[in-house]
Amino acid sequence: MSKQKQTSALDYKKLGFKSGLELHAQLITEHKLFCPCKAELRTDDPDGHYIRRFRPVLGELGEYDRAMLIEFEKGHTIHYEVYKQLCTYELDETE
Ligand SMILES: [Zn+2]
Repeated sequence: MSKQKQTSALDYKKLGFKSGLELHAQLITEHKLFCPCKAELRTDDPDGHYIRRFRPVLGELGEYDRAMLIEFEKGHTIHYEVYKQLCTYELDETE
């Protein structure tokens, strides 16, 4: 089998191509990073449900987040299962 180097017809530098990699990992900690809530995965029945819709807002630079605009146009929602001990971080409502 030949080990020839394959070349791309695209000039990524000329195209201005940029990419990034985002990693998520769950750490074993006593509480969450930004609040004192326990960092546990619950499997019992939740006390309630909360539905959140994407809503574009202007960012610090006075521009809309393009990814948020796309999600808003799709009409997607996020369904949260909530328990009695609930904080604004849990609902992604803390600014
Ligand atoms: Zn919390």
